Amino acid sequence: MDEVRVAVIGAGVVGLSTALCVAETVPNCSVTVIAEEFSPHTTSDVAAGVLSPHLSPETPIDRQRRWFKDTFAHIYSIAQSAEAPDVGVQFLSGWEIFEEPPKERIPFWSDVMLAFRVMNNSELKRFPQATFGWMYTTLQCDCTLYLPWLEKRLKKAGGRLQVGKVTDLWELDGKYDIVVNCSGIGARALTEDMQIYPVRGQVHKVHAPWLKHFVRTGDGTIYVYPGINSVTLGGTRQRGDWRMSVDPFDSKTIFEKCCAYEPSLKLCRKLSEGVGLRPTRDVLRLEKEKLKRGSRQIFVVHNYGHGGAGVTFHWGTAKEAAQLVKEIIPEVRHRPSYTTSKL
Ligand SMILES: Cc1cc2nc3c(=O)[nH]c(=O)nc-3n(C[C@H](O)[C@H](O)[C@H](O)COP(=O)(O)OP(=O)(O)OC[C@H]3O[C@@H](n4cnc5c(N)ncnc54)[C@H](O)[C@@H]3O)c2cc1C
Repeated sequence: MDEVRVAVIGAGVVGLSTALCVAETVPNCSVTVIAEEFSPHTTSDVAAGVLSPHLSPETPIDRQRRWFKDTFAHIYSIAQSAEAPDVGVQFLSGWEIFEEPPKERIPFWSDVMLAFRVMNNSELKRFPQATFGWMYTTLQCDCTLYLPWLEKRLKKAGGRLQVGKVTDLWELDGKYDIVVNCSGIGARALTEDMQIYPVRGQVHKVHAPWLKHFVRTGDGTIYVYPGINSVTLGGTRQRGDWRMSVDPFDSKTIFEKCCAYEPSLKLCRKLSEGVGLRPTRDVLRLEKEKLKRGSRQIFVVHNYGHGGAGVTFHWGTAKEAAQLVKEIIPEVRHRPSYTTSKL
């Protein structure tokens, strides 16, 4: 039986994990990742990489919960393995704090995290700014290590990587049978989807190896996340802001705000700064689409719009996207142009 040719656009955490799930779980297909940028130049490389399910509630909570559970289980199994530090994965415990208690005192994801509980008064004393908080253990995934590992695993499964920009999905017609669109913020131009917009995030990477616990505010505007090789300090959430350069005013504000929560940061050594555009959409887009032009058609699976939670949901959404590819295959094989394009 001829192989079905699948192109995955995007080599961030969503594209690579989706390509891997297709290559490892869908029989008789070849997978090619096409991307303008690969690691370490994607938004995913800028992320703190903490599994923290904060996405717009307009994406149904049962789907968010399933994606988060699947991602947590996948990263958990890596964290338990001997290769964890090479893959950039670790367990991370800490506090999420609120100036005012949130509406939902127990979030939908609390039972997926490890050791989730509401903070007690003696813990709250550490943070005079807070009146309420949670403590839990989550997982963290340093994408500057994790993405190269996904690439290696994908190549081992027979996948190919190709550098290139796709300006129109119809460019791929005839060369591939199914296109999986994991282009992050690039989806705005590629699919003319005006529902996706950037939320700019700027971070510092610092050397502060004495910090072992994370601190984040409930709205995600201030965070200190100790990682395997550095501590990530953030951040900004600037909606509609496309600037990719480091803003010195943001740098100063981020550092001052983080020091207010973790005063020992005044002793840290600064390593680098970065900016990324969170691909944000009210509803994450994970669905099939059939594009038609005259007698021609392209089968597309969209998987983008993960906002500030792409690492958190990547494996769950990748598994679901691979399932959609599997569902399309019988239709692809029965298309008259399938046989002619193979001749
Ligand atoms: C400061 C910051 C901190 C964050 N922290 C966290 C965190 O702690 N936890 C968490 O879960 N998430 C976090 N995020 C969010 C996370 O980074 C994103 O949700 C995630 O990176 C999205 O992944 P992606 O693969 O969809 O997009 P990207 O990583 O942006 O990848 C998109 C890919 O598509 C390619 N592409 C785009 N258009 C085209 C085209 N036309 N042709 C070819 N290729 C194309 C790009 O080159 C790239 O390879 C953070 C984000 C920022 C900015």
